[in-house]
Amino acid sequence: MTATPLERRLKATIQMTGPLSVADWMALCLGDPEHGYYMAREPFGAKGDFITAPDVSQMFGELIGAWLIDAHQRIGAPAAFDLVELGPGRGTLMADIWRTFRLRPPLQLGARLTLVETSPRLRARQQDALATVGAAPRFADRLDALPRGRPLLLVANEFLDALPIRQWVRHQGVWRERVVGLDAEGALAFGLGAAVLPQGDLPQEVANASDGAILETAAPANAVVETIARRIVDDGGAALFIDYGYTKTAIGDTLQAVRAHEHRAPLDRPGETDITAHVNFEAIARAAHSTGALVHGPATQGAFLSRLGLLDRAARLGTGKDPETQARLAQDVERLAGAEEMGILFKVMAVSSDGIELAGF
Ligand code: SAH
Repeated sequence: MTATPLERRLKATIQMTGPLSVADWMALCLGDPEHGYYMAREPFGAKGDFITAPDVSQMFGELIGAWLIDAHQRIGAPAAFDLVELGPGRGTLMADIWRTFRLRPPLQLGARLTLVETSPRLRARQQDALATVGAAPRFADRLDALPRGRPLLLVANEFLDALPIRQWVRHQGVWRERVVGLDAEGALAFGLGAAVLPQGDLPQEVANASDGAILETAAPANAVVETIARRIVDDGGAALFIDYGYTKTAIGDTLQAVRAHEHRAPLDRPGETDITAHVNFEAIARAAHSTGALVHGPATQGAFLSRLGLLDRAARLGTGKDPETQARLAQDVERLAGAEEMGILFKVMAVSSDGIELAGF
């Protein structure tokens, strides 16, 4: 198969300036303005590359909407507040949330809705999705472009996993950076770079890992969570982060590539393949905590959605419906919360100002 346009360019870059860190590789594969995956591809849905929780069922967005209505009460029911989503994809989640807010007109009136999205193509999709429920979002391409000064309610589903990670390979007693270079035949290949990870405060079992072990660090994800937490400490509010990930720093290679619902090699067809990493919830919790914010969870997605009433919601939607509809609802519940599906791998963590309790944890 011929190389993708992005592959040709990345190889030329590597030839000229040397190997790329895994972080630079991820950032270019996903975000290159011309050929980046989110810029050029249609990733979502049955015909795309993967399906996310909001696209599994409207119940997901409705329960998150109800959570936000509750959180709004708990932060003191501010008349004016910022409602923000990071990386809204097709806009399904926010559209479902906005429909749920119809039950509480003051929330729709008081919300200044901003979507943080870099892809112009996806912004257009999000705008269309929200127009169908009567919402007109503003857009920001970075967190520091968000409006300030009002309490914040924020959601981010499968956003942090798309932010670049660095990988480190244990080699002769130190952690050397894992890089993407070219092998003798000129093919893309992983290798060892010059940078070395400062030992810092790694847990004992990680610090003593044997040669070849891989450790990941995710400064951009930690920084996003810290920025949001600081904002919440300053202005009040609550934020919900949902993603696949792990709850304790550990060794392991979680870089994953997906195309057309199949796992691929991470260097396969750059620009046409989604490339993500599991989120280190211990690290993002620490980042949030360092600001003085209160951290809730992480809980598993299954436990969180159950506590928010997933089963009741499914029963309500199924009442008086035909057996096929009821079977599909049961299937959706399993998909969202079942241990073999998204229920355990996916985690939910919330951040609030100090002293605020939140539902679901
Ligand atoms: N939340 C959606 C989509 C997840 S895919 C869902 O659950 O279906 C990741 C989303 O984050 C996409 O919309 C992508 O364009 C956006 N994104 C990725 N990196 C980003 C960045 N650095 N800044 C802003 N948006 C980003």
